[in-house]
Amino acid sequence: MSRFGIVICGVLSIAAGGMFSFGIDDPARTTTQPTQPPVLNREKRSALDSPVQYDLTPLSPERIAGLVHDLNPNERAIILNKNTEPAFCGLLLDNHETGLYTCRLCGLPLFSSNAKFNSGTGWPSFFQPFDPAHVQERIDTSHGMVRTEILCARCGGHLGHMFNDGPPPTGVRYCLNSAALRFYRDDEDLPPESRPIETQIAYFAGGCFWGIEDRFQQLPGVLEATSGYQGGKTRNPTYKQVCTGRTGHAETVRVTFDPKSITYRRLLEWFFRFHDPTQINRQGPDVGSQYRSAIFTIDNQQREQAITYIKELSDTPRFLGRRIVTIVEPAGPFYPAEAYHQDYHRKHGGSCPLPQY
Ligand SMILES: [Zn+2]
Repeated sequence: MSRFGIVICGVLSIAAGGMFSFGIDDPARTTTQPTQPPVLNREKRSALDSPVQYDLTPLSPERIAGLVHDLNPNERAIILNKNTEPAFCGLLLDNHETGLYTCRLCGLPLFSSNAKFNSGTGWPSFFQPFDPAHVQERIDTSHGMVRTEILCARCGGHLGHMFNDGPPPTGVRYCLNSAALRFYRDDEDLPPESRPIETQIAYFAGGCFWGIEDRFQQLPGVLEATSGYQGGKTRNPTYKQVCTGRTGHAETVRVTFDPKSITYRRLLEWFFRFHDPTQINRQGPDVGSQYRSAIFTIDNQQREQAITYIKELSDTPRFLGRRIVTIVEPAGPFYPAEAYHQDYHRKHGGSCPLPQY
């Protein structure tokens, strides 16, 4: 433990009781919030950037306001107003049980007991977060110092600060307020908000995968859309091989979604707005079996829903006199396309807006 680190935390302790700006709205406060300083590590992320698939979608102000009601005054002062609890007073400082430290406000897992160490500072200390995507960093110039503040990446709640004087293997010290955390022992059940998302998969082929992928990615509840090849015989096909039409694959988009946020039926509805399902082995200027309209289903439930929906759709005025040729078949191996095909529109512009009908 360096003297520098002790001094820094000591200053924070002295500062406790002050009112600071913060990343989320505290309904209890009425003062005007100053402009937020720049965020260091918060780039545009999909919910699945967390490798273990936690939902990192920022919480709405209404949701946060509801959660804030459960905080006691001390927790509010720390999480919302960026106060610091006095050194050696936090309830989790001497906790040596194995388990998970989650955000007190929103429940996102933040630190594991595996990374906890005794820094001697008087505050719970960790050498790495549970997942780097779960902890947001921000420059903090308060109190005449330049420090790195850490916040929950999902709710924006203040957690503490990080310093470059930690132990191996990272050399980083995450200095936490106990009041910003909630601890769950390994043998305790985690609440839903602290668990990974239970995702489902769906596969859709509707012509060039660039546009289909781009549009699915815009739907709330879709966590990831990946361009690839499916429905053919060749193993590990390349784009060049698929373009010959001889591998049997269709350009397909694998959609990973949160069924609590968007249903498979809803995905079907969007899919049939994203392309023209009456064209056989083509979509506009793209001609060939690799551009066929197809739904690859992972189970009987998806298959029944897809067939039922196509029947319903066929009876609507939109398809009067035009037959839907979309093929519904069980999903075989899906091969992700080459990296340059992924997020093509996002990388090159030309994103397709969601259809309005
Ligand atoms: Zn949080």
